[in-house]
Amino acid sequence: MEQHLNNMTIDQFCELIDFLHPSMDDYLYIYDFVHDFFYISENATKRFKIPRKGFHNVMQNLETFVYEPDFNELEADLLAVKQNHKTVHNLQYRWLDQENNPVWINCRGYANLINGKPAYMLGCINEIGNRQIADNISGLLGETSLYDFLANYYPDMPKGFLMRIGIDDFKEINEKHGADYGDGLLKKVAEFLSDCIQDNQKLYSLHVDEFMILDISGGTSADAVRIYRQLRKKVELLQEANQYEVVFTISAGILENHQIDNWTLLDTMKISEFTLNEAKRRGKNQAYSFQKEDYDEFLKQREIKQILQKAVSNNFEGFEAYFQPLFHLENHTLYGAETLMRFRCEKYGEISPAEFIPALEETDLIIPLGRWILHQGLTACKKIQEWIPDFRISINVSSIQIMKSDIIDEIVNTTEDYGIHTSQVVIELTESGILESDAHMSKLWGKIKEKGIRLALDDFGTGYSNFHYLYDLQPDIIKIDRTFTAKAVENDYEYNLLSLMSGMVHNLNLKICIEGVETEEEKQRIQGISPDYSQGFYFGKPCPYDQFVEKFVKPAAAQLQSSHPGTDDVQVG
Ligand code: C2E
Ligand code: CA
Ligand code: CA
Repeated sequence: MEQHLNNMTIDQFCELIDFLHPSMDDYLYIYDFVHDFFYISENATKRFKIPRKGFHNVMQNLETFVYEPDFNELEADLLAVKQNHKTVHNLQYRWLDQENNPVWINCRGYANLINGKPAYMLGCINEIGNRQIADNISGLLGETSLYDFLANYYPDMPKGFLMRIGIDDFKEINEKHGADYGDGLLKKVAEFLSDCIQDNQKLYSLHVDEFMILDISGGTSADAVRIYRQLRKKVELLQEANQYEVVFTISAGILENHQIDNWTLLDTMKISEFTLNEAKRRGKNQAYSFQKEDYDEFLKQREIKQILQKAVSNNFEGFEAYFQPLFHLENHTLYGAETLMRFRCEKYGEISPAEFIPALEETDLIIPLGRWILHQGLTACKKIQEWIPDFRISINVSSIQIMKSDIIDEIVNTTEDYGIHTSQVVIELTESGILESDAHMSKLWGKIKEKGIRLALDDFGTGYSNFHYLYDLQPDIIKIDRTFTAKAVENDYEYNLLSLMSGMVHNLNLKICIEGVETEEEKQRIQGISPDYSQGFYFGKPCPYDQFVEKFVKPAAAQLQSSHPGTDDVQVG
């Protein structure tokens, strides 16, 4: 071993490795092809099943600590270096640790030539499991390796697909059954997936509970769905075998490679993330295949959220409060108004509340806006009460506001600050909203009742229609949704149902409001149900404050003056 290597002998290199190893996490090595000798940092012998730090008969010894399925690939790569077909050895494969577990390593080395022949290779080995290059739990390569692999194809991605797979509610499983159980589950799913894929498909482990199958051999979305179905079958069988001890489901998002224009790594990963999120958003336990329209809609929604955020920071610019009148049906007198939010922006013009209210809820922006609309409603109510002392104002409140802010306290305090009687404020809550905020609701409900604020159960007849709410919460008003109203007008069965419901509500001493009355005919028909109040385009569309005053308040005030001095409710029209 007297051979000189750039002025150093192999022995001197070995000394250098010994000298450096205590200060390194990585492992240095030298492979002397001429003497078939290998020398590595001593710390590697403690971590892996390596016989000792220096040994001859290299290939034979490698066999004892290289993970068997990876050995042929390693052998072929080293042979190419030794035969001078290439000078760089750069391979990710697995070594066995002291407990015989395969551990991912990245092995790099550079061959040096002496007299034109490869004589030795100097290099470095590092473990890649910690850096998401590979995942030792699932035993798969990690996200970085996927990037490296995909980058080879930039910018022309071959035909095929990416399927991102996620375990639904994995965090909860981990919390409930412990991290070891979670790890076992990941291992199992990785194993199932390995069984489901073909040789020309690659499998990676992404962060925490996600996997990616990459096909670059022309596979289609339908092929991906088949793999997903196989996986689900295996998961179901596993659960059956475990007597449903733990039940979990799996979602998948599928993207065909050619579906992305101007393919970039970042976009591809973002869109694949979107596909899995979409599968989960649609109810989990399913595979979703990418559709450009859905993605455009998602991007639009995201943009709208940004626009809303900006508008809120900009002193609620673009938001406006509209008011829609509510009438007593029996004598056509004005009962009050519902406050409805409106939003317009430069790019999209007027955006429907059906679109922006959910966006406000998802971003929690409904909290500041809920406060804002409360003030708009109370300000309007206070002014209108100068004409009509008994005017009532309704405010819609979302479950997010109840769960995440102290909106109820705020309603009570602000109402008092404005000098409005609490009985003249109605909070409108939907059934689903109450259901979501159940625990909070029962606590707050006492306070609302005690303070005399009214509660309207909104959109009754659309959702769960849990009659027990009528008993438990004793709301003051039940609002029947437009969809129910429209059906009742057209269909006798629905009409009779609504009649019965109205009777029941009245028996409980609650009031009923029919929403969405659009025509004279509809008004005639619902009159037979004897609702207490009614609301709809027929009586008046939502409009800004000034218009509301002109159209509804002033005529009602005039009537109040002339024909019914002293009464609470006012005749209009
Ligand atoms: P909602 O509380 O059920 O409000 C009634 C909706 O029905 C309003 O829609 C109103 O414009 C519409 N409407 C009234 N009469 C008729 C009619 O005769 N025919 C038809 N087809 N529709 C009628 P809008 O203003 O688009 O609001 C939609 C939903 O957005 C509201 O439904 C409410 O759930 C929510 N929303 C609106 N403003 C607020 C708010 O300030 N806070 C919260 N949390 N939600 C709000
Ligand atoms: Ca409402
Ligand atoms: Ca409603």
